Amino acid sequence: MKLVLLGAPGAGKGTQAKRLHEKYDIVQLSTGDMLRAEIASGGELGRNAKGLIDAGALVPDQMIIDMIAGCIDADDCANGFILDGFPRTTRQAEALDAMLVEKGLKLDHVIEIRVDDEAMVQRITGRYTCAECGAGYHDTFQRPKVDGVCDTCGGTRFTRRSDDNAETVRARLKAYHEKTAPILSYYGKKGMVQTVDGMASIDEVTRQLDRIVG
Ligand code: AMP
Repeated sequence: MKLVLLGAPGAGKGTQAKRLHEKYDIVQLSTGDMLRAEIASGGELGRNAKGLIDAGALVPDQMIIDMIAGCIDADDCANGFILDGFPRTTRQAEALDAMLVEKGLKLDHVIEIRVDDEAMVQRITGRYTCAECGAGYHDTFQRPKVDGVCDTCGGTRFTRRSDDNAETVRARLKAYHEKTAPILSYYGKKGMVQTVDGMASIDEVTRQLDRIVG
């Protein structure tokens, strides 16, 4: 199964992609995670991307297209993949189409997780993850059972993304509306977009996704 998850920053693409990965054994390909790994490893690509990410801007299309090209037909994608955060511009969507044709692959679903902008600022600025296992938490909506201790692995170190502050989030939402939202009509014209309500609870969004892909 090959999926694209679309939605504004904070819509829950990463959270739902992890659940889809666990349930259907398909790989989560998050371009944001890949870029953060590049930054952590101190390589040139990461150095070039960091300023743009921290400003809430998109990194250049070609950098992302090159990064994803080697992933979608890798061995671990034999069962399928979930594209999380890619494509993010019409040019990226066109490049993805070309890659899929070349590799003889086809998308099964393009799913939009639809949310309200204002709620996203609060959602994003409060979120953090366990530094050991990556489990996600939120200052208001999803606190660990014991303060400061990860429910999943017992870890006590947590991290916040450097681009999860209010100012950058507003820039990221602007980039989404200007550059990414047009993809909805790109896929819409092909009759491929299905929409779930991203303002519903995490479990309810998962149920809605299951109804589409299950
Ligand atoms: P995300 O983790 O998906 O929210 O991505 C974090 C940041 O990485 C974005 O705000 C962009 O700066 C950059 N980024 C991630 N994916 C892409 C993409 N497909 N195209 C351009 N920039 C991206």
